[in-house]
Amino acid sequence: MKEPQRREFLKKGSAYALFFGALFGCGIYISPKLYAKNSFLRPPGALDEKEFLATCIKCGQCIQVCPYHSINMYDITHLSSVGTPYIDAGKRGCYLCDLFPCILACPTGSLRHEVHSAEDIRMGAAYISDINGCFAYMGKKVEKEDLKPLQSNQNEREATVYENYKNYEGKECTICADMCPYPDKTNAIEMVYENDKVFPQIHSKCAGCGVCAELCPASAISITPRYEEVYT
Ligand code: SF4
Ligand code: SF4
Ligand code: SF4
Repeated sequence: MKEPQRREFLKKGSAYALFFGALFGCGIYISPKLYAKNSFLRPPGALDEKEFLATCIKCGQCIQVCPYHSINMYDITHLSSVGTPYIDAGKRGCYLCDLFPCILACPTGSLRHEVHSAEDIRMGAAYISDINGCFAYMGKKVEKEDLKPLQSNQNEREATVYENYKNYEGKECTICADMCPYPDKTNAIEMVYENDKVFPQIHSKCAGCGVCAELCPASAISITPRYEEVYT
């Protein structure tokens, strides 16, 4: 390499190093300041967000073992949380598996090892975000085209969820209340009848697992992360 080219190369290299260094530094500086404002649904048993970010080593073990493929990993666009696991309830909730393989697999306790049952889980809270969209409230039956094309082809558990879900075709919608995986589900969600209307009501035991939000064919339920709990 000739001298002028070498100098140009070194100049560009330094500029890139400065840029990425500043970006990385910014991420470290901003991270703790953002944690309180984010709206991420962490896997079950997660420590409080600040501690979670400080202890999770981004190994992806929880993601590997989840039989429902519920857990994703934040990419570089989420500077403060890059590499950490999250659940997007609109796409795939957490099915609160027996023995919580994600928790067992976590080597650091960022998913708390002392959590053994669904009663100990509080990922967030479900709320009815669009009651006028709710099929039950509007007296609309579930049509074939209303059912979401769920991820169902990877294993038996996912296939079972999809089979149960498809059974609602042509029926009145009670999907959220029936398919809630909380063990004593009427403490989490139930269909109620008031003023000639039927609709789901969320109760305080809701674990915020997101399954109702995933499956609702009307997208009438949302999950708020545990920092801002809301019940209807
Ligand atoms: S409890 Fe089961 S479904 Fe939920 S995140 Fe853990 S492994 Fe996945
Ligand atoms: S799943 Fe629940 S909230 Fe959604 S349309 Fe059916 S009854 Fe309404
Ligand atoms: S109501 Fe049931 S399905 Fe919905 S978030 Fe709560 S525990 Fe999960």
